[in-house]
Amino acid sequence: MSGNWPNAVDKEVLDLIREEAERQNSNIQLIASENFASPQVLAVTGSVLTNKYSEGYPSKRYYGGNAVIDEVETLAIRRLIDLMGAEYANVQPHSGANANLGAYLALIKPGDTVLAMSLDQGGHLTHGSPANATGQLYRFVPYGVTPASLDGGERIDMDQVRDIALKERPKLIVAGATAYSRIIDPEPFRRIADEVGALLMFDAAHIAGLVAGGVHPSPVPFADVMTFTTHKTLRGPRAGAIVCKEEIGTKIDKAIFPGLQGGPLEHVIAAKAVAFKEASTPEFKEYAAQIVTNAKALAESLASSGFRLVSGGTDNHLILVDLRDFDAELSGKEAQLCLERAGIVCNRNQIPGDPRSPFVTSGLRLGTAAQTTAGMGPEQMEVIGSMIASALRNRADDEAVAKINQEVGNLCSEFHPYEGVVAQRGAAGVTD
Ligand SMILES: *Cc1c(COP(=O)(O)O)cnc(C)c1O
Repeated sequence: MSGNWPNAVDKEVLDLIREEAERQNSNIQLIASENFASPQVLAVTGSVLTNKYSEGYPSKRYYGGNAVIDEVETLAIRRLIDLMGAEYANVQPHSGANANLGAYLALIKPGDTVLAMSLDQGGHLTHGSPANATGQLYRFVPYGVTPASLDGGERIDMDQVRDIALKERPKLIVAGATAYSRIIDPEPFRRIADEVGALLMFDAAHIAGLVAGGVHPSPVPFADVMTFTTHKTLRGPRAGAIVCKEEIGTKIDKAIFPGLQGGPLEHVIAAKAVAFKEASTPEFKEYAAQIVTNAKALAESLASSGFRLVSGGTDNHLILVDLRDFDAELSGKEAQLCLERAGIVCNRNQIPGDPRSPFVTSGLRLGTAAQTTAGMGPEQMEVIGSMIASALRNRADDEAVAKINQEVGNLCSEFHPYEGVVAQRGAAGVTD
């Protein structure tokens, strides 16, 4: 006799999962913060490890029965330390936002001054938005990018970072962004932090996979703490993680639990362990390099179709498109909706100095991590760039947009992430 659960398959939910799997397989996913996790990551996320309470840390748990769980979490920690070349790791954050709040709780006190990238220039909600706990608990002062009018403009203004740091004497400096297409060099941030006696946190949420894959400079030797998400370029389960210097490890651990979270999600931690191993392979290095190659190809295609790219291009997985040169009437909101009708999924985004509101915007953010996982290369990126231009140019013509949607379907029938049971049922191992 095995578990006495209801026998009936929950068709309502399974059908929705199947529908979503179909959507992911048949549209072009250009959301820069998304990716397609491997079938193994999906399967492990759906494992019996979800049943276990394991508040605390390996060999220091509040409940019994954690011998196996301790091994799972220890394996994840060890793999992450190896992957990032770090001194210390905490794999429990449920998300990138929790990793960030945990790092702040560990390193600073409410009311302390923090220097971070302005939200309207590319920073994240958790870098001090007044709508977020971080903005309510701490005194954030923002830095931004150089003016677009400058040659080589719209890059993080390191002179400004230093000037503000000298004036404001922050306890913590945050590097890292959510809508910035260039390499963020951690070294000058470290120099400025040392000069003003601040700690340095690097939020690598977007670029963790590029760092792990060796195509972006690692912040680990320079930052006191590096927070990141595991589901963006790193291609693991939806979650967060932290690596840091040994001497602040205990503070970080205490901040995450019991400071911020309750029981860790050990099924997700096991899936992180799988993803960390996947990310340590030579294939992942190739994948990470291909993401950037693809982003450059998409950027070129868009530029040749008349779009202005913020900072003139990209060094990473994402492109910030300024729509105004292409069509002054076209907002990011309208462009996002039009592209979705064409089967191309992306998000509107403010550009530095955007005259439109964050809900409307003058920009689009596009990323190549997901479609690179689906097997696409520069050739497909060029086609996608033309499809984007054509859909937006013909947005009033339903037939023209529908025709592009069909071309998108054809392209995705050749390049899509999931086959077999995952494609059919949307979940590894679920049968009905
Ligand atoms: C995505 C992101 C986060 C938050 O991650 P969630 O898992 O959505 O909470 C934090 N910082 C940056 C820079 C991000 O891009």
